[in-house]
Amino acid sequence: MKIFYSDKTLAHRPIQELHNGSFAPAAEIPRRAEIIADALGQSETPKDFGWDPIFRTHDGGYVAFLKRAHADWRAAGRSGDAMPYVFPIRRRRPVELSRIDAELGRYSFDCGTPVTEGACQAAYWSAQSALSGAQAIRDGAENAFALCRPPGHHSGQDYMGGYSYLNSAAIAADFLLGKGAKKIAILDVDYHHGNGTQDIFYERSDVLFVSLHADPKTDYPFYWGHADEAGDGPGKGFNVNLPMARGTDWESYRRVLESGLEKISRYEPDYLIISYGADTFIDDPISYFNLTTPDYTAMAKQIAAMGITSLICMEGGYDLPSVGNNVKAFLAGF
Ligand SMILES: [Zn+2]
Repeated sequence: MKIFYSDKTLAHRPIQELHNGSFAPAAEIPRRAEIIADALGQSETPKDFGWDPIFRTHDGGYVAFLKRAHADWRAAGRSGDAMPYVFPIRRRRPVELSRIDAELGRYSFDCGTPVTEGACQAAYWSAQSALSGAQAIRDGAENAFALCRPPGHHSGQDYMGGYSYLNSAAIAADFLLGKGAKKIAILDVDYHHGNGTQDIFYERSDVLFVSLHADPKTDYPFYWGHADEAGDGPGKGFNVNLPMARGTDWESYRRVLESGLEKISRYEPDYLIISYGADTFIDDPISYFNLTTPDYTAMAKQIAAMGITSLICMEGGYDLPSVGNNVKAFLAGF
């Protein structure tokens, strides 16, 4: 399997996040990527595709904000990481924003996603890994793995959140469509619903989004991921949410996965992009499913049995002692 990883993603070093009412040490830390890279052994440095393919997916104003947000934060006399504290809920009319705090709220949906000095660089190289993986499968590789970090699936066209700044899986999908692919399926098997990916493709039929995740009634991101969110307009029927209860083990997960895969097979996509999160693991510190390491090999085999050329993008997974082996077990199934 072709593996892409850039150590430039380590530049994003968040200190803390607001969680359950108090500041907690950041869960999404550079060590995650180092551990996964070490466990996998060999990887290729991604090619630099520049910002153009990112603008196919993300809003120009948002990207411009992301590039300068930390510098603006410093210029305002602040130390540490930039974080929002006011949000324009309920579709406030568009206003011209100048203060950094206003812009942070405009482009965020939570307080768990600080803009560090290296956030933009890390998200950029994460996207370049996904683009390199997309290019590799387009050039004939059977499959590829992009060691993306920070994650991307919570980031929408013009917003960040859930540790995500740029949506690498969505960027790879738009890239492949731009290179002649007609249909892409995205399968999201992270513990959390991929709300950013859902939003980006919600009104489109050229991307089928299928997500298996913890029920948003109990789990982040709460406002997205419910079973009745099925897409809109031309995208109606092309968004499939399969929420599951806390405590789900492999026996139950496997059956839900099977129904998701049936939908993907019927769609007959040119490529499959998998948003893989190892935070469905039994010991994950911020999640509540009960999958074990061998389950990831079984999961991957079930997916690979469809015979669709696949790009796997790394999303979550926060149990440091196991995350390397869990990724390795998943890739082994291909
Ligand atoms: Zn997650």
